[in-house]
Amino acid sequence: MSTSQPLAIEVTDLHRNFGSLKAVDGISFEISAGTVVGFVGANGAGKTTTMRILATLDYPTRGVAKIGGIDVVQYPSQVRAKIGWMPDSFGRYPNMTVFEYLDFFSRALGFRGKDRMARVEDVMDFTDLGPLSARLVNTLSKGMSQRLCLGRALIHDPEVLILDEPAAGLDPKARVELKHLIRILAEEGKTVLISSHILSELSEMCDSLLFINEGRIIHHGSAENLKHNDSGTTVIKVETSEDPQKVIEWLQLSPHAKLLEGLKNGALLEVDSIDTTVISDLLKRMVQDGLPIVDFHREERKLEDAFIDILGKIESKKSIPAATVPSSPTPVSKS
Ligand code: ATP
Repeated sequence: MSTSQPLAIEVTDLHRNFGSLKAVDGISFEISAGTVVGFVGANGAGKTTTMRILATLDYPTRGVAKIGGIDVVQYPSQVRAKIGWMPDSFGRYPNMTVFEYLDFFSRALGFRGKDRMARVEDVMDFTDLGPLSARLVNTLSKGMSQRLCLGRALIHDPEVLILDEPAAGLDPKARVELKHLIRILAEEGKTVLISSHILSELSEMCDSLLFINEGRIIHHGSAENLKHNDSGTTVIKVETSEDPQKVIEWLQLSPHAKLLEGLKNGALLEVDSIDTTVISDLLKRMVQDGLPIVDFHREERKLEDAFIDILGKIESKKSIPAATVPSSPTPVSKS
């Protein structure tokens, strides 16, 4: 991504093979400091493997990964000081309270005396774990455990956070709480790489999305760009105060719009343009012709649909006969 911000994460032609399996197959991407990036992909796409390499927990087969300009393989200790890692699952010790757990990590990270206490208290305040400080960690709910795990990742106030599926298994309230915490961290200027299967959730908190499929990056761009359809058409939902049949009949005579789907209180239609003048003219004519319109709005393409479209394009490229496929690797699209 070409921006003036320094790079927090740089990955260049990274590979990780497990035997003959190419879990990560030559990926490259850059993440600017202070941005929140969603890492999206199906089960087994290579997200955790990539994140574990960035977190210095695994070695790449080849390629380079850097955090804040520091190579994760050559200088793991320096990288660890810069990152907070939240794994998709973590061990919980049976006879340890929330306070003892965070204090243990604070000590392990080298904090002593007043500093140690200050770090634990700061983190408990931020994650709202103060009231639970005497609770045994193995009795916490999933949402509380995730806050504890995030707290642990934040003890040394790292610049970069690598969060693997932090929202998995959380109820809607706990999700909102987690999203709120991540938003605050982003406002503080931290760089966050966060994986999730729930695209709508990621789009609300991420500056950009990184799609991975079968170990390859297939898209890197903003959620907004993905929501715009590149087919040159606009999908509109109209709601009516009466039976929508009049709208459906009207559409049959309209040169620029066609019915996609009749709805209980309206219709979904497709306009053959993305020009806002054409769209506002359509609404004007509908009202002038006496249609009982009570609501009229552009439908955004769902991110899930965008992801499936990108996958579809990749699949159709694969099915082109070998002689016509360019020999270069899958291009990385960057915003
Ligand atoms: P999920 O969303 O299910 O967590 P993921 O995108 O995080 O999936 P990875 O965990 O990175 O995917 O796995 C990528 C591929 O590598 C999978 O096929 C997985 O089975 C394989 N894999 C991961 N770790 C190992 C390992 N230690 N040994 C062998 N294969 C592995």
